[in-house]
Amino acid sequence: VIMTSPTTFQPVLERIAEEIERTPGRGRPADYIPALAACDPRSFGMAVAEPDGTVYGVGDWRQPFSAQSITKVFTLALDLAREGDALWEHVGREPSGNPFNSLVQLEYENGIPRNPFINAGALVVTDRLHTRTGDSSGELLAFLRAESGNQDLTFDEEVAASETAHGDRNAALGHFMAAYGNIDNPVPVLLDQYFRQCSITASCADLALATTVLARHGIRADGTRLLTRSQAKQINAIMLTCGTYDAAGDFAYRVGLPGKSGVGGGIIAVVPGRCTLCVWSPGLDERGNSVAGVAALDRFTTLTGLSVF
Ligand code: GLN
Repeated sequence: VIMTSPTTFQPVLERIAEEIERTPGRGRPADYIPALAACDPRSFGMAVAEPDGTVYGVGDWRQPFSAQSITKVFTLALDLAREGDALWEHVGREPSGNPFNSLVQLEYENGIPRNPFINAGALVVTDRLHTRTGDSSGELLAFLRAESGNQDLTFDEEVAASETAHGDRNAALGHFMAAYGNIDNPVPVLLDQYFRQCSITASCADLALATTVLARHGIRADGTRLLTRSQAKQINAIMLTCGTYDAAGDFAYRVGLPGKSGVGGGIIAVVPGRCTLCVWSPGLDERGNSVAGVAALDRFTTLTGLSVF
């Protein structure tokens, strides 16, 4: 059931932006990729999209930023739509309690990552999507363009090159899983796809719209079905339990929505059947989640009462 409501989200967004503006302490932009370190931590944008494509926004909501790990939600959706439950033989769906780029747990779990949203799991999903499509990052970009209606979305070659130059840890994850037979493509090919995927630049408006497939229980913007209702529910559940790494418990406690963060400072969130959100502010906490982003989502669910709980 798609609920539409005559209420506008604009006043609540403006109130949140004012509150965030007055709040000191924004965290620090990610510095492990030089191309991300240059972001202004004072930037803040937030958008809400409704299932019919109506978008509300405040602040820097139209400014493109590096989507990074937010893209992991969409590659998961695209791969799950193609191969269904067979995917779960190659990646688990339990929270890890470890940082996004952790190598621990892989060895005693025989090269099967704990979930699709830590880097190891996302590499497996990208590998499988690449095998099925021959161009996983191209497939992802086409999907994001179609769902957001923004044909200008593209890869940021500078960010992708910067990640490649600082990619030893992701390379280690890829080789480690390949040693267990859990990667099909040559690791350098996989890394190239993965870094291009992470480098996609999009705004809060674009990403909130792209996420509406999950608020519509699997139906794409053009009315066709990507995911079964059950698969859409499954992805929302994995976002809730694994979407903010080792802070997923705190995120569920404070925000109470399925969400997925990226080190570019963006976070997407879903109110199933009702709306999606995307918030962006590049300053991160020590677990790699946007400080102002989590605070803004916390205020949104408190002020509106919209939460899965
Ligand atoms: N590209 C980043 C990496 O793999 C993405 C991490 C993230 O957003 N958490 O290191």
